[in-house]
Amino acid sequence: MTTKIEEFFNEDIKLPSPPGVALKILEAVRQEENSFDDIARIIMVDPALTARILRVANSSLFGLPNPVESLSQATALIGTNALKNIALSFVIVQDFQDVPQGSFDLTLFWKRSITTAVAAETLAGAVGVNDSDIFVSGLLQDIGTLVLYLVDSDNFAALLDDKRVNNISACEAEKKQYDFDHTDVSYHLLSTWGLPEEMCQTIRIHHSEVKKNICNESAVLLGIANKISAIYHGMNSGTLSKDVHCILEDGYGLSPEQVAELIDIVGDKSREILELFTIDPGDIKPFSQIMQEANEELGRLNLSYAQVVLELKQSKLNADKLALELKLANDRLRDLAYRDALTGLFNHRYFKDIMESELERAARYKNPLSLVLIDIDFFKKVNDTFGHQAGDYVLREVADTFIKLLRSCDIVARYGGEEFAVILPETTACSARILSQRVRRGIEQLEIHYKADTISITISCGIASCDFTNTKMTLEDFIKQSDQALYRAKRNGRNRVEM
Ligand code: GH3
Ligand code: MG
Ligand code: MG
Repeated sequence: MTTKIEEFFNEDIKLPSPPGVALKILEAVRQEENSFDDIARIIMVDPALTARILRVANSSLFGLPNPVESLSQATALIGTNALKNIALSFVIVQDFQDVPQGSFDLTLFWKRSITTAVAAETLAGAVGVNDSDIFVSGLLQDIGTLVLYLVDSDNFAALLDDKRVNNISACEAEKKQYDFDHTDVSYHLLSTWGLPEEMCQTIRIHHSEVKKNICNESAVLLGIANKISAIYHGMNSGTLSKDVHCILEDGYGLSPEQVAELIDIVGDKSREILELFTIDPGDIKPFSQIMQEANEELGRLNLSYAQVVLELKQSKLNADKLALELKLANDRLRDLAYRDALTGLFNHRYFKDIMESELERAARYKNPLSLVLIDIDFFKKVNDTFGHQAGDYVLREVADTFIKLLRSCDIVARYGGEEFAVILPETTACSARILSQRVRRGIEQLEIHYKADTISITISCGIASCDFTNTKMTLEDFIKQSDQALYRAKRNGRNRVEM
């Protein structure tokens, strides 16, 4: 990894150099006995820096009982190392404030980093980890991200897109692009600058040591601090807060109340420290409010989820109902097109269509086919005697009787007024005659009761048949021949079947 990163930062792509004052402070620190005098001399050159350091020393971060008025007083109370770290933090943050901004939200970056630093410091105090460098470690742990942006801003935008689009972590996105990630860059930069090796190592592993790991407790705290900072400045406050609770309760034995209080304190302190760093704290809400909002959001999501499910169910029911209605409407339409309204039998149009296709089928497979035309005898008399409505009733009864007496494969249609056509597929002339006689007899025996009257009628049948082995017949042939046979049946006395 290191070789790759060293290849990346070369003559063309240079690591940012440390600010001059920071360099001096770091040099002074590197001396074996880094005395207060050395550090103080460097700091006091800059009165604004001195004033700010004193304000930090007096802030809630250290919670000193009495106000501190000089650097020497501060050192006595918070230690030379803490003083050095505050100074270092100020000069580095200051130095990186003037970078060109594009896709990078610098204010958010420092807001997150400073809150992480405050969280790390607060956490260390709460769980009794003695690391006087932890504030600076927290502050600079993600500086690699800023460096990557500064040296390679074009790719950085693509990297942010990759992270967002593929929902992967920053480290994953960076590793895809560079073979190393921002923690490696942070390490590389800070060790090049000469920060203590221990601090650089802690920073390097802060993402991999989130679970409590005795190897490097500071790295674990940095990981947790990062999450606490994200609660205040990130997106998934609810989930992050749960994570932090888990780690601190299970790993450090804190009570839920203690964890909530700790997160709350980090928020308060961050607001104060950000102002000292002249970073606009923006809207750092109290933790309790963030949690309340997260819960409300969760409630809203659950509610809307339930609503969506309900609406989906309702829509499906409606869709099923519509589909059924549509099917019924289509069936009705088809019936209207193919059925005779009075008798419910197929109509003349359907008869012609189906007869054409039966003819084709019979011709293709050389199957016999028969057609019977049926006409009610003296039907006019029925109308004249019992009335037109009785006539209609008789037509319906006759139609029902046909259906009962014929086979399910036979097709009965109302051909015209009191005339019917029966298509008999795969039926020879002989069988057609037998069937027709059966129907004729059935009608003859039928007693139709209409109101007070009992009506009896007869029918005449004319059959046309073709076996399609030697001869072929068209629709016209069939109709003409069966019509002629029917005419003969009438002429020969009615209530007869003729071929
Ligand atoms: P034939 O034995 O020679 O067939 O005598 P017919 O009286 O049955 O024949 P004709 O063609 O003279 O009369 C048919 C009658 O059928 C005339 C007509 O009023 C009646 N008719 C036709 N369609 C309907 C109908 O839908 N309802 C009723 N009630 N009568 C109808
Ligand atoms: Mg007629
Ligand atoms: Mg008739």
